[in-house]
Amino acid sequence: MEYFSKDISRLINELAHLPGIGPKSAQRLAYHIINGPKEQADQLADSILKARNNVHYCKICCTLTDSDICPICSSDKRDHSQIMVVENSRDMSAYEHTGKYNGVYHVLHGAISPMLGIGPEDIRLKELMARLKDDIEEVIIATNSSLEGETTATYLTKLIKPLGIKVSRIASGVPVGGDIENIDEVTLLRALDGRIIL
Ligand code: ZN
Repeated sequence: MEYFSKDISRLINELAHLPGIGPKSAQRLAYHIINGPKEQADQLADSILKARNNVHYCKICCTLTDSDICPICSSDKRDHSQIMVVENSRDMSAYEHTGKYNGVYHVLHGAISPMLGIGPEDIRLKELMARLKDDIEEVIIATNSSLEGETTATYLTKLIKPLGIKVSRIASGVPVGGDIENIDEVTLLRALDGRIIL
């Protein structure tokens, strides 16, 4: 017998679709939302809709932004000749939080994985290659040190080095298989400073 109201069940189901949220957590969150102030629920719903509808990829670096060109790409204080290639916008935020990197980024939105059937054409690689026509001095490959991240790094190096652009790979210190977004700032900076020219 269905003992929840349809609306509550629907909310629980939707919440349970979120990553890391199991049925119990979904139930807890649903009750929290329902029992809390109505304004809070309105704001939550509104912020989800606004973010989903207004956020898209930056026309240059492909990170998520609500303007055509993201603040980093539009800044004249950044070094636009140095591009750090990351797998996703969360990795970019991790490096940005260190406050020590002054170049720009390129977000691939994934990594090459023959096992999962993700090829070079499935990530934002074409967009990166188009940027390399400008005056670029160095491409820093900061993909994760997982199998997919390493595969992507090798692929990128083979593609970019013949163009006469310096290619480097962030150093170890980022543990094998470790996600960049979960690594502390000191380790991230050490990995960046100790990057190896390929
Ligand atoms: Zn951008």
